[in-house]
Amino acid sequence: MNHSNSSRKIGFVAESDSSRGAERPIAVVSPPLATQSNALTVDVEDYFQVEAFAGSIKREDWELKPRRVDKNTDRLLDIFAEAGVTGTFFTLGWVAQRHPELVKRIVAEGHELASHGSDHYRADQQTQEEFRRDVRRSKALLEDIGGVNVRGYRAPTFSIGSRTAWAYTILAEEGFHYSSSVYPIAHDLYGEPDAPRHPFCPRPGFIEIPLTTVRIFGYNMPTAGGGYFRLLPYRLSRGALRKARQELGKPCIFYIHPWEIDPGQPRETSAPRLSRFRHYCNLAHTEDRLRRLLRDFSWSRVDRTFIDGAATLPLFESWLKPLSQ
Ligand SMILES: [Zn+2]
Repeated sequence: MNHSNSSRKIGFVAESDSSRGAERPIAVVSPPLATQSNALTVDVEDYFQVEAFAGSIKREDWELKPRRVDKNTDRLLDIFAEAGVTGTFFTLGWVAQRHPELVKRIVAEGHELASHGSDHYRADQQTQEEFRRDVRRSKALLEDIGGVNVRGYRAPTFSIGSRTAWAYTILAEEGFHYSSSVYPIAHDLYGEPDAPRHPFCPRPGFIEIPLTTVRIFGYNMPTAGGGYFRLLPYRLSRGALRKARQELGKPCIFYIHPWEIDPGQPRETSAPRLSRFRHYCNLAHTEDRLRRLLRDFSWSRVDRTFIDGAATLPLFESWLKPLSQ
């Protein structure tokens, strides 16, 4: 069953493209901030598929690695159920194919099923044709297994940026309604610090929800999870998230991977030191911190937080580079 043609209309008015290059904020009518949940997201992939190990683990060896994504995602689902929260699971096609029961559980427990692509190829390292095939295949697979419409996409390694604006056109053409693939920070593997920090329309009718950042000493600091959440003391992460929420005047978006709550995962000794530090830092503390985070803030799915019932968002094209450049 393919639901790509049964997509619901998203609840905002798309602006026309008449003033290309201009940022045009438009009055946004939304409920008071204090009553809005933040968006909780999971990138469903295994420990050997991360970008930090791309240089030391070959793709052809993925099949040889003991998989732990099923048990770890089940554990996350248990933790979410205990906390009474729902979120969005950006699920890799590779994982869905091998663990369809996981996809079914995600849907059955009220979470939003979304796509993390098929094989964890970065958007900015694929041709447009390859990207289209990758996202189309993942959407069809997830919809077949999950029996729901898949509207959201997160690029592996936050790899959509100002030079890959074509990805938004392809995602919209393939029936996606939103992406959460931009991280407005400076980082060696991803990110663009001059990217918009607020949700915006990169093209009419399509929404990008950048990962949450906070301004500190004139820089955008990551506040959305991942290695920083494991590295910093929990109280700092909580304070930064509160500050970001105030600054942005909008809900935040947070992400976690199943392998981040798994201190028992096999160690990849051949990877560079920095990669190992990033990947293994404080794995034993993450579950406890996550439980506190779920208690300290209110959480929901991305579609319910940012898409359904949303008012008009600004069309923002000035950051995107035209294809001719
Ligand atoms: Zn990923």
